[in-house]
Amino acid sequence: MTTLRAGSATDVGRIRSLNEDSKRLVTEANLFVVADGMGGHQGGEVASALAVETVEERAGEASLESLKQAVRIANRAIFEKAGSDPDLHGMGTTTCAIRVVPGPDGDEIAWVNVGDSRIYLLRDDRLIQLSRDHSLVEDLLRDGQLTAEEAAVHPQRNILTRALGIDIDVEVDGGTVIPFTGDRFLLCSDGLFNEVSEDGITSVLRRLADPAEAADELVRQANDGGGRDNITVVVVEVVDDDGRSAAASAALAATAGGVDSAAEATTTGAAGAAAAGGRPVAGQTVEPVEPRTEKIPAEAVPAGPVFAGQRSSLPEPDDDYASERDDLYGGLDRERSRRFTWRVLVFVAAVLTVIVVVVGAVIWSARNTYYVGFKGDRVAVYKGKPGGVLFIDPKLQQTTDIARAELPQNLRSVLDSGKELSSESAATRYLVYLRTVAKDLGPDGSPNTTTTTPGTTTAPGATTTTRAKTTTTATP
Ligand code: MG
Repeated sequence: MTTLRAGSATDVGRIRSLNEDSKRLVTEANLFVVADGMGGHQGGEVASALAVETVEERAGEASLESLKQAVRIANRAIFEKAGSDPDLHGMGTTTCAIRVVPGPDGDEIAWVNVGDSRIYLLRDDRLIQLSRDHSLVEDLLRDGQLTAEEAAVHPQRNILTRALGIDIDVEVDGGTVIPFTGDRFLLCSDGLFNEVSEDGITSVLRRLADPAEAADELVRQANDGGGRDNITVVVVEVVDDDGRSAAASAALAATAGGVDSAAEATTTGAAGAAAAGGRPVAGQTVEPVEPRTEKIPAEAVPAGPVFAGQRSSLPEPDDDYASERDDLYGGLDRERSRRFTWRVLVFVAAVLTVIVVVVGAVIWSARNTYYVGFKGDRVAVYKGKPGGVLFIDPKLQQTTDIARAELPQNLRSVLDSGKELSSESAATRYLVYLRTVAKDLGPDGSPNTTTTTPGTTTAPGATTTTRAKTTTTATP
């Protein structure tokens, strides 16, 4: 059994009046959740609280898929609540969580993430970010349009590309990590890593043995760094990995090498044996390849090349194979020819069915989805797909008072190609978001220094969710 111990801390920070972050430590289920809410009035608090509650209640059996599903259920709950209460309109939240789940070779730690709260793993004194931020700045960073230094102080680093509560469905990132004694997992809201460098975080996690003390110290340092946002930190330490470290060390000693960069390992799908300090990091188990020592029985080894027609240990070809081979060599008789004709007919019918279903789905979506674009120099909502689909043109639903000139360049480009949304209420919420951006940001994308709106709005898509802004945001 994997044994964990955890500590946590949260603080409103030095500027905000409300703490919109939430956290849950469900030690009996080995489940830990952090959420960072956003939205006007009480929206952010409500969204983040609903997220952690729902993930706890709906986590179900211990598996990565159940954890992802719990986050999707939380998304739906927040989306519906936001739609039914005008005071909560536009609320949303990030969510990240970890949980111990059974794996094929013992316990694993499953992690999930939506938004820009982060999950780090400190292993062998190295801090590895397991989650990936869903933010505009992260996208620019990945595209090579920004350096890490520029990203850290970018005025739009609060704009999320994914969050809970914005659309009816949400894509949830996740993966699993094999835990080893001494590993420390850190879940935190952006109020921590925007104020304390990763070196600073690493040093605290190394220095303070007690997870609760480490969490308190991280929050203290974030406040010292400015405390411009709410700060939430959960530190989870692997106290006992059920003898896995010892076994891994022994296996490693037997098979020296196989150590790769830890950075590659942070993606679950990454192939190969990635390890930090010789131990696997994410998703994949590094199985040492045992040298094959047993003797292969002589009768299992063909004495030489085996040709078709020779009696050999090769399996008999099945009937289909035999008939197709015969067809190739002529000898087509009527029976086979009839079978062939039937096969062609069945195949053609199947292809036609697929075409009908696909065309039907395209027509349905062309008639039942929405997008936000421009009509002249005003933002407008259309029903349909940008540019139309087949013979179905989009229909103008409404033209708003939001002018093209009020929006930053990146949003103009998004709207130029049409921001697609799954429902009319999602489109309406997106308009709320655009209004907030138009108010909070000047046309050059930098914050209007006269606004002090603590409220925020969220919306889906490429540049979708803006956080509560403060006038103290640094400019590059
Ligand atoms: Mg925050």
